[in-house]
Amino acid sequence: MDQIKIGKFISLKRKEKNITQSELSEMLGITDRAISKWENGICLPDASNMPDLCKILDITINDLFSGEVVDMKDNEKKLEENLLEMTKIKEQRDKELLALEVFIGVFVTIIMIACIFIATFINMPDWLRVILIIIGIIPFAIGISYAIRIEQIAGYYECGNCHYKYVPTYKSVLFATHINRTRKMKCPKCNKKNWHKKVVSK
Ligand SMILES: [Zn+2]
Repeated sequence: MDQIKIGKFISLKRKEKNITQSELSEMLGITDRAISKWENGICLPDASNMPDLCKILDITINDLFSGEVVDMKDNEKKLEENLLEMTKIKEQRDKELLALEVFIGVFVTIIMIACIFIATFINMPDWLRVILIIIGIIPFAIGISYAIRIEQIAGYYECGNCHYKYVPTYKSVLFATHINRTRKMKCPKCNKKNWHKKVVSK
């Protein structure tokens, strides 16, 4: 996907509609700096802004990704190319998220162990020990629930029985028995409770 081309295309279409950057930003409920970033090819619009942006500029999502108005006869081919690229971008992002999950998990675990270790082995008043343990446990609890949230939304879980891939609810991920990222959950398709593997691609 050519960000510069997409940016120029957004700018062109906006000017054709006689809309200023700040007017467009108001319509989308975002800052005009974001618009200028898109138009300069620094970043792509968020997926959540794309439908409204396309409606305002009178283009299709496919046109937007292609950075030009796509000819009807090329439409299907371009759409396929763009979808493929979107999938790759999502897979890459999911991999990064899963690496972040590991980092958060390790980080808060180290903090907790360090706090408990100090509270156990170093001489200090009891109230200080309690506070130290609380200081260790709170980031751990927050960090782990955040890490599980990342694991839930990044990529998919694959049912070991029917190989259906899906994104489960936070609750079912949180309460599932697990070995690393493989979790025992009930598959929404075949309804069997079995081990689900984490996968990045669908
Ligand atoms: Zn299944």
